Parts: sequence; structure tokens; C-alpha cells
Amino acid sequence: MNTRDPKRFRHVDYLWSDERAEGLDPVDRLVYRSNLLGADQRVTNTGGGNTSSKLEMREPLSGEPVKVLWVKGSGGDLRTSERANFASLYMSRLQELRGLYEAADDNGPKSDAEDRMVAMYPHAVFDLNPRASSIDTPLHGLLPAPHVDHTHPNAVIAIAASKDGRQSTREIYGDDVGWVDWQRPGFDLGVAMAEQVEKNPDLVGLVMGQHGLINWHDDDKACYDLSLELIERAARHIEAHDRGEDTFGGARHQALPDADAQQLLTRLLPRLRGMVSQQNRFVATVQRDEKILRFVNSVDAPRLAELGTSCPDHFLRTKIKPLYVDWDPASGDVAALAQALADGLEAYREDYRSYYEAHKREDSPPMRDPNPTVILIPGVGMIAFGKNKSESRVTAEFYNAAVEVMRGAEALSEYIALPSQEAFDIEYWALEEAKLKRMPPEKEFARRVAVVVGAGSGIGRAAAHRFADEGAHVVCADLDAGAARATADALTKRLGQGIGVAGTGISGCGPAIGLGVDVTDRASVRAMFDEVVLAYGGIDTVIVTAGIFASPGEDGQVPDRLWDASFAVNVKGGYLVADEARRLWEVQGTPGSLVLTTSVNATVAKKGSLAYDTSKAAANHLVRELAMELAPIVRVNGLAPATVVEGSSMFPRERVLASLSKYGLDADESQDTETLRDRLATFYAERTLTGSPITLADQAEAAYLLASDRLAKTTGQILVVDGGLHDAFLR
Ligand SMILES: [Zn+2]
Repeated sequence: MNTRDPKRFRHVDYLWSDERAEGLDPVDRLVYRSNLLGADQRVTNTGGGNTSSKLEMREPLSGEPVKVLWVKGSGGDLRTSERANFASLYMSRLQELRGLYEAADDNGPKSDAEDRMVAMYPHAVFDLNPRASSIDTPLHGLLPAPHVDHTHPNAVIAIAASKDGRQSTREIYGDDVGWVDWQRPGFDLGVAMAEQVEKNPDLVGLVMGQHGLINWHDDDKACYDLSLELIERAARHIEAHDRGEDTFGGARHQALPDADAQQLLTRLLPRLRGMVSQQNRFVATVQRDEKILRFVNSVDAPRLAELGTSCPDHFLRTKIKPLYVDWDPASGDVAALAQALADGLEAYREDYRSYYEAHKREDSPPMRDPNPTVILIPGVGMIAFGKNKSESRVTAEFYNAAVEVMRGAEALSEYIALPSQEAFDIEYWALEEAKLKRMPPEKEFARRVAVVVGAGSGIGRAAAHRFADEGAHVVCADLDAGAARATADALTKRLGQGIGVAGTGISGCGPAIGLGVDVTDRASVRAMFDEVVLAYGGIDTVIVTAGIFASPGEDGQVPDRLWDASFAVNVKGGYLVADEARRLWEVQGTPGSLVLTTSVNATVAKKGSLAYDTSKAAANHLVRELAMELAPIVRVNGLAPATVVEGSSMFPRERVLASLSKYGLDADESQDTETLRDRLATFYAERTLTGSPITLADQAEAAYLLASDRLAKTTGQILVVDGGLHDAFLR
């Protein structure tokens, strides 16, 4: 195949550009090559695979030339890797490690000697590089070629996970590419591969049974070309055997029309999220594209789903197998589906317990959460769960990959899953457990979805950021949809989109979304929550900061229509949001919290703000009524700010000027709004007991406290954040 011609590749994207590579130093060329390989999900999955170059470097102290292995380290992923994601090790030390390993009398696959080697890598580190080495390091270090790519291409795993994998490898690649049987990655696999190459120096790569591909070259660009060429050849071989309509035994069910499926999902997801979140809360990603629907609707889906996933990288996220729910979408019977899910989940957990009991070893870590992370529903698609949005997208991506692997393997012969003991030994590997233990503790709002209504500006926007800081997924909602999206975009930019490429429609979102909502209109509120459910699977916390301040007219009176608007937004709005959220909380069955924003004006009578003040007084009582209504599952509290002038949409220039004149403060109309606001804020601050301006951050902090488990025993209360106004002391 002429690899120079990108058009020759039909199954992978050829992305190398000499222009881009030119001028990069050898390590940056490795980063570049890695990013290109990771950019195509058909080449490798998120977090999967690794790349390396053996380069001549300078010894930091002596300046002497020395051979160093640069290899993608533990964590991170090829698509997004930077230089800092690569470990660097002395080649001479790695060779010494091989000697040490081979001399150990307890060596062998899954032996203690193998795990001991992992602790030795820090002794081989070049130039104090802090990046930890991955367990695949010996695969790269012990193969002699200067450049090595290890990838998880669907097409090659399909061959590696089919009954006749070894023969297919020979058929496709002849003498170019060899085969190694499945073996858990580690030192022993590295030695086994090196020995194959020592025996057959003409090999350019190896298909790794049930796992993936590894190939190498003297030149880095040629190594990239070779990776793509080998994948393309596998994909073409599968294409030639494609079963068309008969793929997965043909269709057994029809996909529901999009609108029906979405409606069903909005009803089902919160319930499902509640059912799998008994031990730990999960966030959902929905996938319902053509490929996944063809699989879930097929005759063979129940059989293949039960076999489980193959590539170890995959099933660490997807669990050993998904839950396939036997339901006939043509029946349209949602109650039957909910029952089938409940029964299916119970059976799945039981099954997982048996799997754990049957395979556990003396020193195995305790059993992990027995709930499935992938749920397949005929007619509807796939629902994947993870501890956050990014992780649930990865889970979905991996099962998409697993489906492609099964399609290819079944086209060629028969799909073979990893033996369950091998799967267990990966899932409960001491090194994996150590990796989990090394992870920083989860943040307070991790795994949770916070909906902030009013997030386009002021306290709402500040609260959105505050909850995001605590690890929440944040739904930024506002009457001004553009402002809501701007807050969500700022959050996403700050936190990053995360990894994992999957999710249909809004479900492919990141840690924050922006939505428009009119809190005075129940249909609008419901539509907003429907979107939230499709995006994340459910809700945990709702904060309402949306409100309006009706300024009196020239005559000092608030027009009648503004009275209506004040009560519609400040009272009924809070109620409608609470009432629609309640539907979700009830079916989800997990504890939640609701915070409504009221005002100190609710208890302090003032001149000129009748409509606002009385509506906020009603909002105070709404908090208490809702606390009764929503108990015991949801706590409801009120946040009563005083005049927060900073960045508030309730203090436009005219109101600032009016207030300054009301308090007899001379206002210079030529000054900019911020200066005038500062003047007013300082005046307000001087009236308080604490004497300093009340900021958005003060309010956001209180909203976060009320919503958090720190105040788990507080409900029906109003927390005043006003700097200390003795007139507003509650009594
Ligand atoms: Zn791998």
C-alpha cells in the first residue's frame, strides 16, 4: 500500500504533516505522533495505548551522550498528551531490570517478581522526570526498535478477540506481523515480545491476543505510517467479510423514533440513576446513534452482551459486561421497562457478587460497586455511567469500541471474550487498586448535578462557579439563554471538557451546560429539566437566584403589572422550579437540596419597594412550606442577601443613581457605573455591623453551605447574609 497517499486510507485518518513535524525536537515529535494516533478513535481509545522513542540525550551532570527511552507514562491519553505526560528512563537501566527479572526465581506472568519490577522503575528515571512509568513500559523498553506504537484499534482488537485470531493475523499480514497470546501487560509480556523479535528479526509488529497492536520502525514518521497501514489492512479484511444486514444476526427490534426515545429517556433516566446510585452517585451519558442501535436491536445482542468486553482497557470502565434489558420497544410499555430494569439490576448485582466470590484471591481488594456501568435497552440505545461526565463519556466510548470489536470478530468468525479469571485479575490487580488509592479524595459535590437558575449574572453566576469548584456538574439556566451559555462556557473553559468521546446530542456535553428558562412558565421549566436529564441523567441540587426588582415609577408607585411580575418571578417561579424538580427527586430517590434566594427586605419594611419586599416575604414562607412538602428527601432553605451591588443585574445604572439620590448622596452623572456602584456599596457597607461591602462571593459561599451536606440537618431555614443589619435580625 502506498502510505504516502492519505486517500488510500478509508478506515483511519492519515494526519501526519511534514510541515508540522519540521523543527520539533525528537521528544516533541513523539508527542506530535502520539496526538495524531490518539485523534482517531478507530486507532486507539481514550486513555488507551502508548508510544515511545529511544533517543540520545545528554547526561544532566556530565553532558555525556546517553540512550533514553521516552514513553507515554501512567495516566493521560495519547490525544491530549503533552511532553509532561511522558516518562523518561535510561535504556541501560531497563536492560539491567530485564536481567534482574530473568534471574528472579519467582518470575512469570502475574508473579510477584513482575509486580516488583514496577517499584524498580523510579531507579531507572532519567533527569528526575516525575512522570510515573506505566505498566506497558517494558513492552517499549525491551523491543529493540527506536520507535514503537502500541494502540487499541477496533479493527485489530476484532481480530485479536476472534476465535481464529492467530490464523486471521497470518492471512492479513503474512510474515510481517506476529502474534502473542493474551497475557496481562507487564514485564513478562515485554520479555515474551522481545524474545519473539529476537527469533524473527523481520517482524514489524505483533497482534496482542485480546488486546491490541504493537509495531515499530527505525524512523518515527514511518512508524506512524506503519501503524495506520496495519490498522487499514485489518479493517479492509473485516470489510471484505462484512455481513451487511445480517450483522449481529440481523435486526430483532426497531429503534424508537427520536422524539419517543427522548421522551422515554426523560422519564426513565432519573429513576435509573437512582437505582444505580445506591452506593455511589453516577452521572449518565446516553448514546443512540446508528451503530449502537444496530447492536442493541439485534438478534445477537443478548448473547454478545453477556460475553462481556475484551480489551482490558475497555472493561475497567465498562465492567466485565453490560446489563442488557430484555424489553420489546414495540410494546411501548414504559412500566414494563422500569420493572425489567429493576429486575435486571438486581440479577446483575447478584451475578457480580458471584463473579467476585468465584475469582477473588487471598489478597484481593474488597468488592467494588456491583452496579453495571453500561445498560443496553432495545429500541432506545445505551446508557453509560461514570463518576463524572467525562468518565461516563469514556465508558460510553469504550462500549462503542467494544461493539465495533464484536462486529468485526463476528464478521470473521466468532467473538471470544477474555476468560473471566483474567478479567478479574486485571480489575482487582493490586497495581490498579494502588492507582485508585493514589487518586485525590473526591470533592464535596463530585458525582452531583447542580442546577443554578439565574446563572447568567450576579449571585447565580458566582454560585455556579462556587459549585463547580466543589466538583459539581453545573447547569447554568437563565431567562437570558445567551448569558446562561456564557457562564457555562466560562466554566467549561476553566475546568476543561474532560476526556472520552461519546454521547448523543446534549448528552455529549462537558461539566457545564447553559440553558434558557422562563421560571414563570411551567412548560419552560419542565423543558429545562428534560434537557438536564438527557445531559446528566438527573439532578441533586437546585439553586434559584432568579428574581426581579420592580423599581417604582416617577410617582413612587410600582405599576400593577410589575406587582404581578414580581410575584410571578420571585414567588411562583421558585415554586414551579421546586415542583418540577420534585418529580425528578422523587423518582430518583436520592437526597437533594434546594436553595431559594429571598432577601432581607422580606423582614424589613421599607419605602419604595413594596412589590419586591412583599414577594420576598412570600418567598421566605415558600421556603418553609416547601421544606414540609419535600421532606424527608430534599432539604429546602432560603438565602437572604442584602444589597449586593457588585455585578448585580438588579442594580442597573438608573437604580444606582436613584438610590444614591434617595440617600442624599451626591451622584456625579458623568462617572461610570462601576464607580457609582462602588460608592453605593460603600454606603451600604457603612450601615452594617461588619462594615464591609457584601460581595457575590459571600452569597455564593452561603448558597454552597446551605446546599452541602455540612448543613445536612438544616431545612426550612433562612440564612441572612447582609453584613449585619440589626433591622433584619430574624425574630
Ligand atoms: Zn494496551
